[in-house]
Amino acid sequence: MTFWVLFLIILVVVLFVFLWFCRKEGFKGSNYRALNPSETRDFLLSDADGYIQSLSPADLAARGFANKDEYINYLKNAEYVECPDLENVIEEADALIDRLEDSWLNKEKLQALPWIIAISPARYEFNLPHTRGQVIMVPSSPCGSDSGASPVGSDKGASSLDSDKGASSLDSDSGASPVGSDSGASPVGSDTLVHEKLHVYQKTYPKDFEKYLKKEGFQICKRRFNRSANPDADKQIYERDGVPWYGYYEKGGGKGFQSIRYTPINMPRYDCPREYAVYTLLDRFT
Ligand SMILES: [Zn+2]
Repeated sequence: MTFWVLFLIILVVVLFVFLWFCRKEGFKGSNYRALNPSETRDFLLSDADGYIQSLSPADLAARGFANKDEYINYLKNAEYVECPDLENVIEEADALIDRLEDSWLNKEKLQALPWIIAISPARYEFNLPHTRGQVIMVPSSPCGSDSGASPVGSDKGASSLDSDKGASSLDSDSGASPVGSDSGASPVGSDTLVHEKLHVYQKTYPKDFEKYLKKEGFQICKRRFNRSANPDADKQIYERDGVPWYGYYEKGGGKGFQSIRYTPINMPRYDCPREYAVYTLLDRFT
């Protein structure tokens, strides 16, 4: 009798410890990992996807740097912060992904991709969410929250290098809640996370995305343009019906994200087919 009582007590304790461990480690179906500050710094400086190397003098000027060395020095000396607990936002993002459907998208493959998230240093890439390789870069504060724009997360508004309202400001951190503040504000919303994860999918499975390009009639444009850099885009400029789609810096348009214009229509979704596909897909499900 004593043996069975002891056995039951031990069983309950083991079960309790197991459940506590699962919760702490985020084993809730979400495949989530956050980079710590030094990993984030090393990751950005490694430039594994060649994005920094690809930046033109106009890209650097729009970001407030005279040259690549200045940009790299900024990344070396910037302040990096811990990622807050995004488990609840990721749960919401996973629930949204459950509902998504499109011909170019294999949902099982999308769901199998890990959520790898890092917090950007202040001012990096206009304080806008974006992807670098498989890593989703999230600003340290909700962008646009000081400018009357929708905070990141409402997503119909200011999100990634993407905002259709074009309202994200370069220095959106004044007045916004910094990561780790007591306000509890998440620096990112679930819609934005899904937007970025769809870019990770496009980068990881370019053959799948070719189905979209073909179906929508996009072709690689042979002409060259001075295009503004977008870390979520591929290296090509595409055209449809003979009309090229790309972003560029308006002459005399000043610095920052606000200096970027898009053609054929001046909205960030027209930057490239990858952006257009993600925006229009999420328009249908959010
Ligand atoms: Zn995007």
